[in-house]
Parts: sequence; structure tokens; C-alpha cells
Amino acid sequence: MKSELKKAESKNVDYQKSQRPSTWTKYRKGLCDDCWAGCCTLPLETSAVDLIRLELTTEEECAVSLKAVAKKLKAQGIVREFSQKTQIFMIEQRFGRDCIFLGKDRLCTVYEKRPEVCRQFPKIGPRPGFCPYNKK
Ligand code: SF4
Ligand code: SF4
Repeated sequence: MKSELKKAESKNVDYQKSQRPSTWTKYRKGLCDDCWAGCCTLPLETSAVDLIRLELTTEEECAVSLKAVAKKLKAQGIVREFSQKTQIFMIEQRFGRDCIFLGKDRLCTVYEKRPEVCRQFPKIGPRPGFCPYNKK
């Protein structure tokens, strides 16, 4: 139990660290191999194109009303917020941290269809070229 608690505390420290880009590690090839997927605990912004690729909505639904799409996906626990101004959909996070598409093995369950920002990270992100890396 004590070690469970320690593990939980350590994960909490990992999470808090992931939220402070000034503490991040410079990305290098191979860094992902033993990383706990810190990038998948960051707020995830998606576009309608991303949601269509993820098969969560259709071009037809998006053409009618993005607000209606957001309402439907909010009810399904997939979208947390939608901005009419930027047309960005924020994806829900489990317990306010892990992406809902992150598997128990801390690998992406929708890798082939993942959103554009995930494809571009860490080239783009809160601190370009740097990662909220932490060992698994
Ligand atoms: S935080 Fe960086 S090192 Fe870790 S999985 Fe994401 S891209 Fe790879
Ligand atoms: S969609 Fe996949 S790659 Fe993107 S944040 Fe979620 S789990 Fe990570």
C-alpha cells in the first residue's frame, strides 16, 4: 500500500512537471522509447478535420453546424469545450490529465488517425523542440 502511495505521489510529481515547459527535456531520436507519454497529458486541441479522420463525426455533420457536433461529442464525453471563434475542439482528459485515447500501456489507441498536433509534437507545442519526458 505504501509503495502504491509512493508510486501515485511520484506520478503526480511527473504530471506537475509535465505542465511546466521550463523543466522539459530537449527532444532527441529514441526519447519516446521509454517515455511515459507526457505529451498525451497535455490539453489536446483538435479541428473538425481531425474529428472527421477519427471517425467521430462526418463532413456532412460539420457542414451543417460545428456547434451541434460539439454538443453531440460533449454528450459522449469526447469533447470538453468548443470555441466558435477559433473552431477548436478541446478533447476530454481522464481525471483532468491523460488523453482519453491513451491506452493502459500508455500508447495511443488511435495512432493512425491521431490529430495533427500529435503528429507535429514536439515540433509544435508549448515549447517547440522540448518534451515533458519522464521515464515509464
Ligand atoms: S513527451 Fe516527447 S519523448 Fe515522450 S512520448 Fe511524447 S514526443 Fe515522445
Ligand atoms: S490522440 Fe493519441 S497521440 Fe494524441 S494525445 Fe491522445 S493518446 Fe496522445
